[in-house]
Amino acid sequence: MHAGESAVVEQIYDDVLRRNPGETEFHQAVREVLESLAVVLARHSEYTEMKTVERICEPERQIIFRVPWQDDSGEVHINRGFRVEFNSALGPYKGGLRFHPSVNLGIVKFLGFEQIFKNALTGMPIGGGKGGSDFDPKGRSDAEVMRFCQSFMTELYRHLGEHTDVPAGDIGVGAREIGYLFGQYKRITNRYESGVLTGKGLAWGGALVRTEATGYGAAFFAAEMLKVRGETVDGQRVVVSGSGNVAVYGIEKVHQLGGTAIACSDSSGYIVDEKGIDLDVLKQVKEVERARLDVYADRVPSATFVEGGSIWDVPCDIAVPSATQNELDGEAAATLARNGCRYVVEGANMPSTPEAVRIFREAGIAFAPGKAANAGGVATSALEMQQNASRDRWTFEHSEARLAEIMRDIHTRCHQTAEEYGSPGDLVLGANVAGFLRVAEAVHAHGLI
Ligand code: NDP
Repeated sequence: MHAGESAVVEQIYDDVLRRNPGETEFHQAVREVLESLAVVLARHSEYTEMKTVERICEPERQIIFRVPWQDDSGEVHINRGFRVEFNSALGPYKGGLRFHPSVNLGIVKFLGFEQIFKNALTGMPIGGGKGGSDFDPKGRSDAEVMRFCQSFMTELYRHLGEHTDVPAGDIGVGAREIGYLFGQYKRITNRYESGVLTGKGLAWGGALVRTEATGYGAAFFAAEMLKVRGETVDGQRVVVSGSGNVAVYGIEKVHQLGGTAIACSDSSGYIVDEKGIDLDVLKQVKEVERARLDVYADRVPSATFVEGGSIWDVPCDIAVPSATQNELDGEAAATLARNGCRYVVEGANMPSTPEAVRIFREAGIAFAPGKAANAGGVATSALEMQQNASRDRWTFEHSEARLAEIMRDIHTRCHQTAEEYGSPGDLVLGANVAGFLRVAEAVHAHGLI
């Protein structure tokens, strides 16, 4: 139908493949967005002429650096640090830092690219970026994590600033790491620049609800999807993968909305607790003790722990993948469909493979992509920046109400855009097109830069 525009999009994708060899996750993320854009180019020839899509696919700046540090026994380690400042058309670069041994440039670029559109969808003044390191904090002492964070920030600080680039947490980076990173930034710059990092502790510039925001936001988004179909979360069986920041608070809000989260996972396996996951125990095990999930099953008699295996074998109404990219493949999607799952809401970034998404579509499963459903985290980070800038502090209730409103707006924007562009109900297209349009308008307005 849009043959000319489809050919343009194919050409852009071929160029991305050629110029970024081996970066498979980045290719996957770009492909997913480009597949939605032919319909936009058909209405906006100026974006083809000015190569707006090509410019958005090319990061504005990519920083790669050495991070040397010493462990508690005195052994020297060398890790690699990354910050990809992808797009600043809408505001300072904004996006988390990930510390995980799997981190490489392709992963940081996929996350940074997704972040551009996610941040645009929030309606807040924030550009897109992402960073991290192949450092593995698992099993490291607090002192080791501190030394690593200090070494990491000793290089990264020169690229940051409240009006330039504002990192936050992601996998492996929580309140502890943000504290060490902020301390080192303050020490080097001699500036108490609260707005340079988000996810800060409540005692020193952090915002209420930031910790809960991504998980709560995903649950709010799910509630909106169900509402369109005349349903509510009340009484639904929910399976949430992961047991980190997103998963824990996703479960908390699901329970508050009357649903029952019956399973969650970590990289060692998953637990099933038909009575509903006991959040006090889960938080104690994962947030305080930083232990493995089998400890939960040791303490809760109604729970069983399954070592390895796929959490998607557990029958549910709503699946919320909240661990990592490509954790839910075609086989898992087929199992979910066979077991009667009706909604998939991505808490993580790109957790479903393209094959899984195709199967959801064919099975009539309503699907929300991460860039829409998990945008509550970064939106609340923008609220943290707003509070820092005005030296203000909002209540939990006020912040949560803002988050709920933002998630409702994102859902409405995606839903309406999908209809407007001829694919009703397709939230992937809705999110990609709505996010792209906001960024593209700003990129275009700023001239050829
Ligand atoms: P955490 O580090 O707090 O938790 C991650 C969870 O996922 C842990 O349970 C971890 O298990 C599991 N996990 C991570 N990697 C793997 C893997 N390769 N295989 C199996 N399990 C794995 O991270 P977050 O909860 O912050 O992030 C989860 C996802 O949500 C990521 O995709 C992130 O990008 C995305 N996200 C996070 C936001 C936030 O505000 N935190 C905002 C938007 C998106 P284990 O501990 O055993 O490794």
